[in-house]
Amino acid sequence: MNAESYERLLPEITPANRPYWDGLAENELRLQCCDACGEYRFPDSEVCPRCLSGSFGWRAVSGKGRLWSWIRMHQRYFSAFEEVRPYLVAYVKLDEGPAVISTLVEAPEELVPDLPVRAVFEPGFSERTILKFAVQGQEPLT
Ligand SMILES: [Zn+2]
Repeated sequence: MNAESYERLLPEITPANRPYWDGLAENELRLQCCDACGEYRFPDSEVCPRCLSGSFGWRAVSGKGRLWSWIRMHQRYFSAFEEVRPYLVAYVKLDEGPAVISTLVEAPEELVPDLPVRAVFEPGFSERTILKFAVQGQEPLT
């Protein structure tokens, strides 16, 4: 994949989302957690979507979750992904509650709903580390 074109797809790092990116750089998935009700949320937001409290902290989470849904993308939607088609877009429900859209590394051909997955951290994207997932119990080759 062309790193330069991939870079254009990455969200801007802002003061609000920097703890997330700093966590990934340290191989840790960090999410905002509401001080009032304990709800984890992703992506970052100023207030809790559950109770509207503006008080929160960043906490490391397990990185474990389950595959909720997925699609194998054959169409050329982003030129940055031209060389890697078809690629897998995975919708993962984290054990802590929030859902994230990512991909699976070393994805098996046959996928099933609720497949247990865990976070893996892939560095080297414009000096950033990217969150991906692997099937639990299956070590990626990277
Ligand atoms: Zn809350």
